[in-house]
Amino acid sequence: MNTFVIVGGGLAAGKAAEALREHGHTGPLVVIGDEADRPYIRPPLSKGYLLGKEERDSIFVHPDGWYREHDVDLLLDTRARAVDPRARVVELADGRRVRYDKLLLATGSSPRRLTVPGADLDNVLYLRRVGDSERLKAAFTPGARIVVVGAGWIGLETAAAARLAGAEVTVLNHSALPLEKVLGREAAEVFAALHAEHGVDVLPRVEVESLTGTDGRVDGVRLADGRLLAADAVVVGVGITPNVRLAEEAGLEVRNGIVTDERLRTSEADIYAAGDVANAFHPLLGRRLRVEHWANALRQPEVAALGMLGKDAVYDRLPYFYTDQYDLGMEYTGYTEPGAYDRVVFRGERSERRFVCFWMAGRRALAGMSVNVWDVIDPIRDLVASGADLDDTRLADPDVPLDRVLS
Ligand SMILES: Cc1cc2nc3c(=O)[nH]c(=O)nc-3n(C[C@H](O)[C@H](O)[C@H](O)COP(=O)(O)OP(=O)(O)OC[C@H]3O[C@@H](n4cnc5c(N)ncnc54)[C@H](O)[C@@H]3O)c2cc1C
Repeated sequence: MNTFVIVGGGLAAGKAAEALREHGHTGPLVVIGDEADRPYIRPPLSKGYLLGKEERDSIFVHPDGWYREHDVDLLLDTRARAVDPRARVVELADGRRVRYDKLLLATGSSPRRLTVPGADLDNVLYLRRVGDSERLKAAFTPGARIVVVGAGWIGLETAAAARLAGAEVTVLNHSALPLEKVLGREAAEVFAALHAEHGVDVLPRVEVESLTGTDGRVDGVRLADGRLLAADAVVVGVGITPNVRLAEEAGLEVRNGIVTDERLRTSEADIYAAGDVANAFHPLLGRRLRVEHWANALRQPEVAALGMLGKDAVYDRLPYFYTDQYDLGMEYTGYTEPGAYDRVVFRGERSERRFVCFWMAGRRALAGMSVNVWDVIDPIRDLVASGADLDDTRLADPDVPLDRVLS
């Protein structure tokens, strides 16, 4: 009987195990993860769990006991050290060897580290694992001075959580506006205003020169312009890098993640990749894309599992992500980047933070977003996926239902 092995212990690994069992793999199934906890989802770590609104029990992909009940050999606290594609073996850090017939790499990603002097001081905090979230929660106390380095999703969500806990929060941003690189100026202004109204100081165009400390613990952030900001804790959210070392050393093609085709097959027969680590060819977009978002890690594994089972499946879902900050809830679908679109069309009021918008290239929508407007992400996805010629006036008119814009 074929043995299927999954390396990685996050959402993609948990969902892949589920899909393999659901789609008929009855043989041995091994999941190798280096965290102490069974697979869990990370979005609550910067939202509900960090805010104390969600219980620890609610973050897991499967209930306790699921792996045993489905005869999945879940090896926790176990690091895969190497993969030998010729021998079809995964070597573990303790020297054990696990043979596979098909292998899925779902090793995810890790936070990029600050490298400035002082970056290794205590209370310089990162956010990826559940323990990190608990450390942040302990640091976010009323009056604590929290400096957040980075104004991306993680930086802004942690800033909101710190502020809601009563901390004094400063966010350091490379560009003029938070999230400017992902959303562009028009939509980024909404997030800048949101944080300003909640009393967060977002400093534009700044560079960290060093972190200062007393007795090994951080107490300040020195900026390249000479300013020194006092800090009781520093949270670093400056992006992530895919965990590709195993794949690279095994000789797989790696370029901004593990390169796969639209079936999530890597350059090596019998090895698949899914989740944050996969740089997969996307048939609708006509290019490779590595997506660092929850929905991708939720849905790609089923396609990989079908491929491992010899069935034909392609991953062509448009990227999707969401954020919650204070009372703002946002969903986004599609893909665009600076320079790829020529305008943003809004439907609804930006100043009220209740609107839908579309990033347009000519008459096509490349991506769409809803802010505090609910149950519209499906028609937004349909409009983006249609690739059809769209009319700005109809897109912008709240009286034209989104599912009628095309007709
Ligand atoms: C705080 C936070 C908030 C987020 N919020 C959102 C959000 O609001 N919306 C959204 O869309 N996305 C969000 N994301 C992103 C989302 O969580 C990720 O896209 C998702 O976790 C990717 O899942 P994954 O299984 O591919 O990788 P990961 O979650 O990174 O899991 C990979 C696992 O494999 C383990 N591993 C790596 N190498 C080895 C090895 N050699 N041996 C054994 N185990 C190994 C890792 O330790 C890890 O446990 C958030 C992420 C974080 C950290």
